[in-house]
Amino acid sequence: MPFRPERESPPTAGMPLGLADLGGTAPAPLTALAAVWLGVDDVQLECSGTAALTVALTALAEDAPFRREVAIPAFTCPLVPLAIRRAGLVPRLVDLAPGHFDMDPQRLTDACGPATLAVVPTHLGGRIADVAAANAIAHRVGAVTIEDAAQALGARCEGGFAGTRGDIGFYSLAAGKGLSIFEGGLLVSRDETWHPRFRRAAKRIARWQPGWELRRSLELAAYALLYRPHGLGWAYGRPLRRALRRGDLLGAAGEHFSVDFPLHPVGRWRRAVGARAFHRLPAFIEATSRQARSRLPRLAAIPGLHAFSDEGGTWPYLMLRLPDQATRDAVLKRLWPSRHGVSRMFVHALPDYRYLDPMPGGEDVPHARDFAARTLTITNSPWLDDAAFEHVCAVIEAVIASR
Ligand SMILES: *Cc1c(COP(=O)(O)O)cnc(C)c1O
Repeated sequence: MPFRPERESPPTAGMPLGLADLGGTAPAPLTALAAVWLGVDDVQLECSGTAALTVALTALAEDAPFRREVAIPAFTCPLVPLAIRRAGLVPRLVDLAPGHFDMDPQRLTDACGPATLAVVPTHLGGRIADVAAANAIAHRVGAVTIEDAAQALGARCEGGFAGTRGDIGFYSLAAGKGLSIFEGGLLVSRDETWHPRFRRAAKRIARWQPGWELRRSLELAAYALLYRPHGLGWAYGRPLRRALRRGDLLGAAGEHFSVDFPLHPVGRWRRAVGARAFHRLPAFIEATSRQARSRLPRLAAIPGLHAFSDEGGTWPYLMLRLPDQATRDAVLKRLWPSRHGVSRMFVHALPDYRYLDPMPGGEDVPHARDFAARTLTITNSPWLDDAAFEHVCAVIEAVIASR
């Protein structure tokens, strides 16, 4: 049979790269462009969001030898506890507020004490977490906040940019997360005395690795070529459907993460690609926000469905909560293998990943488990056109009505 590429939407609205991004002059260093835009003194580039978090924690841990715990939501990216462990620290899991992605403030208060080094409020999928509450709870026990804005570069929060409202913040430049250099991370912090300490920590733990940089450069070139409607069927859809046929949910969601995630500096070429693409980011965020806002009313009209929304967030996807797990699973059965960018955020609550060893707090996280069981996402990529979006809504509506 001849190979006929069909259109496929990615699970998140990553900003496409053009061939012009791959060569030519860069306007300024990527970190300088990001610092000006975010309104901060200094931005440090690492090889992933996970690496940025690892670097920050490694530096903080040196000055506070008796503070060994980092409080995180029990439903978040499994790379977060891997970064905490890599820094020699212990992740303490905090249950979510019922039906919500943010940590329950009372549970967070209970989890914090003299052993707490940091608290990680998380802007999941561009939705805004309550950083002010996390700051108050963390500071009361002498800990700092590290905002996980991995999926929220450009989101507005409490009168500034998400990621700059806590003591420290990080962003991901991974494939599909807004601006991408295939893998990368930005680290920012309020206290300027931390900047040189974070740089020293990075120098120590992230050594130059030409093999990794070569691999990432090839991956970035392939991403620039294939991150478009006809390339994604091959690069994303085919492996997705193969994983789903095998029942490999972690593979389908891209969550086979390794404890030995790479730590290395980002090479000059990839930095320049990010710098050349950077100027398009504000308009891309504007356009995707407009699209999300225009689609929320259709979702709000479906009985039993909740679509998360807020004022200032970014919109990689529309995050939906369904009435129960059976309904959510029935929707996913029809739509996850489709070409319409329907997916799951993270497959499990953190205690349920077999590759993560048990973590304190993990024995009591019913709301995180419920959230993992009842949520799904619809891409907010501009490539999901109105007809395809309507089809997705009609399927969800019909499945809910039939139960
Ligand atoms: C993706 C992600 C990370 C990790 O970022 P990488 O750049 O992929 O290492 C951390 N936290 C959240 C919430 C994420 O979505």
